[in-house]
Amino acid sequence: MLKKPDNERLMAYMEKAKERSEYFIGYPIAQDFDYSELYPLLKLPLNNVGDPQVESTYDLNSRSLEQEVLQFFADLFHAPTDNWWGYVTNGGSEGNLYGLYVARELYPNGVVYYSEATHYSVQKNIQLLNCQSIVIRKQENGEMDYEDLRQMVQMNRDKPVIILANIGTTMTEAKDDLARIKQTLASLAVKNQYIHCDAALAGTYSALLNLEPGFDFAHGCDSLAISGHKFIGSPIPCGVVLVKKNYKERIGKAIPYIGTVDTTITGSRNGHSPIFMWYAIKKLGIEGLKQRAIESLETAQYVLNRFKEMGVNAWCNPSALTVVFPAPSLALKVKWQLATEDGMSHVICMPGISRAKFDEFFADYELSLSAEKTLV
Ligand SMILES: *Cc1c(COP(=O)(O)O)cnc(C)c1O
Repeated sequence: MLKKPDNERLMAYMEKAKERSEYFIGYPIAQDFDYSELYPLLKLPLNNVGDPQVESTYDLNSRSLEQEVLQFFADLFHAPTDNWWGYVTNGGSEGNLYGLYVARELYPNGVVYYSEATHYSVQKNIQLLNCQSIVIRKQENGEMDYEDLRQMVQMNRDKPVIILANIGTTMTEAKDDLARIKQTLASLAVKNQYIHCDAALAGTYSALLNLEPGFDFAHGCDSLAISGHKFIGSPIPCGVVLVKKNYKERIGKAIPYIGTVDTTITGSRNGHSPIFMWYAIKKLGIEGLKQRAIESLETAQYVLNRFKEMGVNAWCNPSALTVVFPAPSLALKVKWQLATEDGMSHVICMPGISRAKFDEFFADYELSLSAEKTLV
């Protein structure tokens, strides 16, 4: 039992977290998950330390379920049969770090090209890996400017090209087009190239619904990373990284202490998060997951129309869950946890956020607009 003041502190925190979860439309986090059947597992110190495919002396793990999760995503992203490898990460950022790590081991003098709309963690990853890099301009919708890419690669034609492509940018959910990137590299006769897709945000539902432009292994990526806590949903941040197996063979030493291979970025790895993902995949099934994606896209259209009816200059990339609009008042940004950059805010219509919830937001939004008018 906690002491009384500590207990009060905890109750107050829990109350606050619950209240904040009621106003959560600005980050790409699914809210319809229910893992209560798995709660008994929270009593166990599960740990998937080391390689997911090599059993460890640390037998209290969830490797067997992790492998089924990886197989699901390998199929979804058309990874080459018998030539893929991957693991359940702590999130998209770790997956991106891993993809770039593999690329750097292959091409130590390669240059990483990424657009200015890229997630902030990528720049840090590049610093950690001590890679050369060039930032490419973005188009207005957040997509890479392919002409700028062409010019930059042309200036560095003697060096291998490592592309970090965005499948859903953080602010506007823009998707870089792998076909156009590959055409660009082909027109410059680039021989050594590697494409990593940061599909943290939009990868899972884009693949489920076969959205254009395609970005998976069949479309020419060499590795890709997704976040598990975004579209699938999880109380603990998690993700998946997949790479072509032959590329990563130079990574990872056998470690006697854990009886497995140290092929991952971190040592200890979360043993619970693969089970959450496994459970969601099994419970919803591929059809259930697709249905959730379709409903989310419909909600995004609903939200976009509501903005338009109010005469607000809101917009949305094709088949995106992110609706971008001019930054509202500070009070609204704080209450609804709206990320804001360059005068733009967004809401993201993730599974589990109902139209009724957005109606509640729009009621606040209308009030704030009329308050602004009164001030003028
Ligand atoms: C969320 C996100 C990331 C980072 O993923 P985490 O799971 O938060 O580590 C990277 N890139 C994009 C485009 C994202 O949306």
